[in-house]
Amino acid sequence: MCGTLHIHLTLAKRRQPPSPSTHQTMSTTPRPPQRPPPSPPIPKLSDMQPPILHEIRDSSLGGRGTFALANLTPGTLILREQPLYTTLTPAYTTSPQSELDQLEEVRRCFTNLSEDRKQLFSTLAMSRPTFEAWMDFLGQISGVGEEKGDDEDEETKKRREKNEMISIMLARHFTNAFQLSRRDGDNDERGRRDGLFPTASRLNHSCLPNAYWSFNTTDDEGMEGLMEVRATHVIQAGEEILITYVPTLSTKEERRELLWEGYGFECHCVACEGKNCLLGEERRKDIKLTMAKFEKGGFDGRAMDAMKAASLQEEESLVDLAVVSSYHRAAVYNERDDNFTLALEYAGKAARMCSVILGPEDRETKIHYQIEGRIRRKLEKAERQRLEDGDGT
Ligand SMILES: [Zn+2]
Repeated sequence: MCGTLHIHLTLAKRRQPPSPSTHQTMSTTPRPPQRPPPSPPIPKLSDMQPPILHEIRDSSLGGRGTFALANLTPGTLILREQPLYTTLTPAYTTSPQSELDQLEEVRRCFTNLSEDRKQLFSTLAMSRPTFEAWMDFLGQISGVGEEKGDDEDEETKKRREKNEMISIMLARHFTNAFQLSRRDGDNDERGRRDGLFPTASRLNHSCLPNAYWSFNTTDDEGMEGLMEVRATHVIQAGEEILITYVPTLSTKEERRELLWEGYGFECHCVACEGKNCLLGEERRKDIKLTMAKFEKGGFDGRAMDAMKAASLQEEESLVDLAVVSSYHRAAVYNERDDNFTLALEYAGKAARMCSVILGPEDRETKIHYQIEGRIRRKLEKAERQRLEDGDGT
């Protein structure tokens, strides 16, 4: 699911297994081996699997999909899993060298997979346009086209078959990979990280998703960690769990193009073809325009704009980091305007939504709860002040 998704990265320390005691008694007389006192095992995060709340089966959207096995409420952790592999390539450019770097890195990761995992990889879906784009690229480099010529020699045939194998591998990778770049932008100098996941890579798409994915890294490089998928809406048992592969605020045309080129399908979701899709389309444009105002300088009317964006996002039922960001802006701009009651309301919304999408233990969630606490103290202080002033008159 490579896209310009907001993704999540926490520089949490890797949990260590309990270290053995370094205290040892030196003794010259042999003693019977002593049983160490029983200690409760400390589970690693990777062992703490949520209860199985999903199953993979055929989807009406095509191919396989992931379905809820129980009624899920917003914030439910549906899935937590380690990647099949993660790739690291220099920041993406359109130069042929960049394509070659990616090719080599995917090939290296694929080659290192166990046979079981290669088998699993081969069952993942593949986008036809992505396959054809790689065939074109390799054809240009090797001088062997995709079309068979009548007088083709053995060497040309072998070369084409090799190009096909590599293109299939790359198309599987790029159709299923999550872009694990840092959340604060795509300009990470250390390059572009992609991850492939056994189950999360099978989640299907909706432009109005009911789940949110994040990658919690456990190392400073952002390469290792766990994929987490949480429900953002009420999901009924039997309903398909859907994430978005593309930015939800892009227009329908933009989404169609990205989904076709990247994943080889046309979207028929409720946001694209539902009863209120035209209204939704206008609303998404309005949200984007309103949010774009924040890029410009000046503070006048910013609290109003942030509240407007948030309200439109609520109407559109979006639950993601962009909404958290609108709530957060509404909180701090109202705080700056000394509107502490409104500021507190929005700070609380930001914290609760962040908890839903990233989990209550997430660093960012905790920061939003701290901001809520700060604003609550300011509100209480302002109220005490008001009472004192009232007493004085
Ligand atoms: Zn759609």
